[in-house]
Parts: sequence; C-alpha cells; structure tokens
Amino acid sequence: MPATTAVDTVVIGAGHAGLAMSRCLTGRSVEHLVLERGRTAERWRTARWDSFRLLTPNWMTRLPGWAYSGPDPDGYMTAGELVAYLECYARSFAAPILERTTVLQVRQTGGGYLVCTDRGAWTAANVVVATGYHVRAAVPAFASDLPPGLVQITPDRYRCPADLPDGPVLVVGASSTGVQIADELLTAGRPVVVAVGGHTRLPRRYRGRDVLWWLDRLGTLGRTLDELPDPARALREPSLQLSGTGRTLDLRILHERGALLTGRMLGSEAGFACFADDLRAVTAAADVRLRRVLSRIDAYAASTPELDPTVTAGAPQFHPTVAAEAPELAPIAAVLPGDGPARLDLRRFAAVVWATGLRPGYPWLQVPVLDHTGRILHRRGVTAAPGLYALGLRFQHRRDATFIDGARHDAAYLADHLTRRRPARTRAAS
Ligand SMILES: Cc1cc2nc3c(=O)[nH]c(=O)nc-3n(C[C@H](O)[C@H](O)[C@H](O)COP(=O)(O)OP(=O)(O)OC[C@H]3O[C@@H](n4cnc5c(N)ncnc54)[C@H](O)[C@@H]3O)c2cc1C
Repeated sequence: MPATTAVDTVVIGAGHAGLAMSRCLTGRSVEHLVLERGRTAERWRTARWDSFRLLTPNWMTRLPGWAYSGPDPDGYMTAGELVAYLECYARSFAAPILERTTVLQVRQTGGGYLVCTDRGAWTAANVVVATGYHVRAAVPAFASDLPPGLVQITPDRYRCPADLPDGPVLVVGASSTGVQIADELLTAGRPVVVAVGGHTRLPRRYRGRDVLWWLDRLGTLGRTLDELPDPARALREPSLQLSGTGRTLDLRILHERGALLTGRMLGSEAGFACFADDLRAVTAAADVRLRRVLSRIDAYAASTPELDPTVTAGAPQFHPTVAAEAPELAPIAAVLPGDGPARLDLRRFAAVVWATGLRPGYPWLQVPVLDHTGRILHRRGVTAAPGLYALGLRFQHRRDATFIDGARHDAAYLADHLTRRRPARTRAAS
C-alpha cells in the first residue's frame, strides 16, 4: 500500500455534484482531489437504460461557470451526451480527478480525516461526500417471497425490453422511471401491468412551454425546505412523472396503450401478487396536485408583465412563446374502469421491474453523522463533524438539490463554508 498523502480537501465522487464542487474549490484556490471509483460520470455510463434521456431540458444543466451552449436548449440529452458534457466540463478547469479509485473507508483522525482507498490513503482537513443520492434500489422486503425463477430487475440494471424473458412484465412503481420503462415495454409489444404508487403527474408541455420552464419561472424548484409548511412531507414527495421524449407520458396514456393499471403492490401470497384497492384514490390525489400546479402557472402567466408587454386589463394576451389556451388534462380516474385487480397470478409473468425508487448508502463512512435510516444528518450539507460535507442530497437546501441544475447553489455555499474554516496560514499560502 503506498504511503499516506496529505491534501487539503478530498471530494468523493465525480458525478455532476463532485465536479461542481471541484470547480468551486478551484475558483477559491483550495487544493483538492476528486476520488472516483469508476470514470467521470460513472452512473450515467453504467446505471441507466439504453433509451434513457434526461427529463430536464438541456438549458437545465447549468453548473458553476458552465452552461449548455449547443443547438438544442429545449432538447433532452441522452446519458451518453451527458457523459460527454460532464467530461468537457471537467476538462474546462482541469479537474484533479483520480479515476478508478474506490473509497473504502473515511474516518476521523486528530484534526481531520483519513480517506482509505483501493489505491492508497489520503489525509485531509475536509472531505466532501458527493457519491450520489440515487444509489441503492429500494426494493421492498417482500420481493424475496416472489416465486423463484421469476426474473426481478431494478432500473439501474435494466437496459432494454429484449433483455427480459418473453412474456408479460409487472412494473412496480409509476414515477418517471416506472412509466418510461412501462412505455418502452408496451412499444416492444409486451403485455404490461403497472402497480401504481404515489406519483407527481405533470404534462411535459403546458401553454407552449416545457413544464419545468414554468416551475423554474415560478421559483418552485428553488423553494427551500425552510420555506415549506410541511418539510417532512416535502422530503417524501415522489419524483416527477416526466419523460425526455418531449411528450407527456402519464397513466392515461399507458392505460390507452393497453397497460393494465392497478394499486400499490402489497406483497405476494402463494404465488399471487397482492395489490391495494387505492388506484383511483392515488390518481385522484395526483390530479389534485396537478390542478394546483397548473392554476399557479395560469395565474403567473396572466399576471407577469415580462411574459407579455402588451397585456391589457381584462384582455390578457400572452408572450408569443406562451400559448393562451391551456390544454385540457382529463382526470386519470375518469378513464379508469376501477381500482384494478387485487391479485394476479405471478406464474403469468416473465419479469418484475422494481421501479420503487433509489436510496443513498455510505457503508464506508465511519464518522457518526448518519441517522437510523443511514442518511447523512446535515444542515445545508454541513455535518456536525467539522470539515465533513455532503453534496447532492435530497432537498439539501432547495427543492432542485438532486437535479444537475441545483448543484451549483449548494457547491458554492459549501465551498464558501469550507474556505472560511481553513486556517489563516493555509489561505495565505494559496
Ligand atoms: C434514473 C434517474 C434519472 C435522473 N434524471 C435526471 C434528470 O433528468 N435531470 C436531473 O437534473 N437529474 C436527474 N436525476 C437525478 C440526479 O441528477 C442523478 O441522480 C445524478 O446522477 C446525481 O449526481 P451526483 O453527482 O450527486 O451523483 P452520481 O452521478 O451518482 O455521482 C456519484 C459518483 O460517485 C462515485 N462513487 C460512489 N461511491 C464511491 C466510492 N466509494 N469511492 C469513489 N467514488 C464513488 C460514483 O461512481 C459516481 O460517479 C436522475 C436520477 C436517476 C436515478
């Protein structure tokens, strides 16, 4: 094992968050190293399905000192395009990345941290954990009760319909990942059942604009946890039911394309999958939230002079890029025949896709900053252990903290915090 090397700051992970941090540290002349177990942007290379596209438009890939400048700001990057984008970003400031270096342990030493990897050890005054929030598939415990021989797969390992054995597929979960995988299985001619849990329904475009353009304008994505009436509920919000195809993809569309929709999967019993009779209630709740968001957009569009300099009292006209007509989005429950089947024979299925979400995990972090669920306890990414930071956490401060577009705010805040706690002599030398 090589000798231990000293460095001011170690950033763990070279996804967009680790790169954003590295850019901010570079800008503040903080000596640092980014340790990455694979290659830069590894999860976008190896943990996304083949047809994957970002659900955020290209203009929403702003990073510190960097923004999309290509020909299609309203398009949606493939995973490969995002890898190239992030590699280009890393090169733009010569990010000091050490690839193929897996962090195996981080623990506190006298005044800082010892970072042990499979390629040597580093001591550092500061450590920034940027290993991602969407890491471990959250598969329900009852998955182990399913009949042996039934193929079970999580979205990070799923690549394309042809990889699954022939036959019907049960997709559990109907947020962005579940509906996209169900959609491409239907296109491939597979019979599909979707077990629907809580979700956030949104149209892809509304009044002539991408719905995320409106949410950005409304400040919804920038709302901080402190500003919300019920932070605990906000933390449990499911991801947005969107796809990067440029068109709306919701349960009504899946239903019309032939998917059988049913309620939340509760477990399995004697080879049968059991589902809650909550499909209409869950979709009705999503429709209520959808109406609320669309009404906010309507009110904003009608009352924001910068959208329409010609607006006159009583006769609102909209900016040329903003359509005056709001599209009608029929409530999902209205098109559903009922709550779907309560039980289905699992012998009829070739595979189950667990689109039930992803959780963070830090098995190598030997510093007492984790709560009982294994999540990092922090305030805006600053932990109780001096010099230990985290980036890219859910609602780290703003709602968009796990989005590519949100990292720049938290990275700048942490870089400022870290710089302030550096001893005066270090600052003078740099
Ligand atoms: C399916 C899916 C779709 C998404 N779509 C969008 C979208 O459209 N738009 C958007 O803005 N966001 C999207 N997100 C959310 C978010 O942008 C991604 O989760 C993003 O990958 C998070 O970036 P990150 O840098 O925090 O973590 P990651 O990209 O996961 O990067 C963490 C890095 O740390 C490395 N690492 C992990 N453990 C170690 C270790 N022990 N030692 C060394 N290195 C380690 C990993 O190899 C990885 O490269 C999506 C997420 C998922 C799961």
